[in-house]
Amino acid sequence: MGKVARGVMALSTKATHRQTRIHNQGLVLRTLYDRGPVSRAEVARLTGLTRTTVSQLVGEFVSDGLAREVGRGPSTGGKAPILVQVDADARHVIGLDLGERAFSGAVVNLHGEIRRTASLPVGGRNGEAALQVVYRLVEQLAGEAPGLLLGIGVGTPGIVDASDGTIRWAVNLDWQDLPLGRLLRERFGVPTYVANDSRAAALAEYLFAGGGGAANLIAIKVGHGIGAGFVLGGELFHGDGFGAGEIGHTAVVDDGEPCRCGRFGCLETVASSRAILARASDAAAAAPDSFLGRRAAAGHALDLDDVRAGLDAGDEATRRIVVAAGRFLGTAVAGLIGALNIEKIVLIGSVAALGQPWLEAVRDEARRRSLGMLGGGTRIDIGQISTDEVVLGASALLMVRELGLAPVR
Ligand SMILES: [Zn+2]
Repeated sequence: MGKVARGVMALSTKATHRQTRIHNQGLVLRTLYDRGPVSRAEVARLTGLTRTTVSQLVGEFVSDGLAREVGRGPSTGGKAPILVQVDADARHVIGLDLGERAFSGAVVNLHGEIRRTASLPVGGRNGEAALQVVYRLVEQLAGEAPGLLLGIGVGTPGIVDASDGTIRWAVNLDWQDLPLGRLLRERFGVPTYVANDSRAAALAEYLFAGGGGAANLIAIKVGHGIGAGFVLGGELFHGDGFGAGEIGHTAVVDDGEPCRCGRFGCLETVASSRAILARASDAAAAAPDSFLGRRAAAGHALDLDDVRAGLDAGDEATRRIVVAAGRFLGTAVAGLIGALNIEKIVLIGSVAALGQPWLEAVRDEARRRSLGMLGGGTRIDIGQISTDEVVLGASALLMVRELGLAPVR
């Protein structure tokens, strides 16, 4: 065997050892996390690894502070075994939600529990100025984070190349081909994972909302914009060009209103919060003595709270606006039901707060336009995590990638 070939052999054997070690580390850590407090012997039994390997790896986790011993379990004849579990506060993740109005973030522990939060107004900033707001927010949260920082998870609107964290296109922030993942990694020296906000939110609903064991889920985020996230077989689906779920810019109205993407009649122009508020303002201007007209008096710009109040007061004009928006969304949902036959669909985002009349319109239209067999088996509900879904989902993505841990409540 030549010198070069021997070198390659040695290298690949080394690489294999390293891979095996990383694999075993992940396996043991995940077992401590999912099953802890648990004895070393039980970890060996569950993983199929030798007791020596398990003891060595657990020893390393304990000395790193990632796991700790928490007393003794029941004896099965001999000496009572020492139990070990992951210390959820040994590492923290910063999760960010780069929303339309404000950038918000949280320090999250390994159980997905929020320890600190912070929020900075974006105030119409975009481009480099918006990037500076991201930096300030991370600095603020990192300064308050207890324990070691494992990394940063970011949920942002737009098309995101999740493999390297490059934002290919975020129309409202005027970001194009922005390498946000690399910029944050270099600036803060920790691993960073960037994903589309709707996809991050879908993962949070899947992990934290007690999905009843369903392997598949669609979460549709309806706010200023509209986007969906698909969890297929327990994994986020990104699509071939990282655009899976970008339903907001599918044209649904021929010769419709101009959209901020530059085209006309997109779903966002008829079903987003902006669309609902534009209709409400039109109705208010047309009838100053109506419920909405009185709410809009004295120059007050109508918001979703006003619309909610109109629904609560039984105002018919408000109800018609909300139902029309819900029906447009229902049409889009019917398309997803036909394409994917996923039976658990959750609606999240600010518009979901409009509640029953909107939800009923979405459900009714989705069923009406679906094959009976498929529509009948599909459950469409309002999501269970109200405000922190993007932050929690982005944090979870980082934990899955760095530690192989999927936090579940
Ligand atoms: Zn559009």
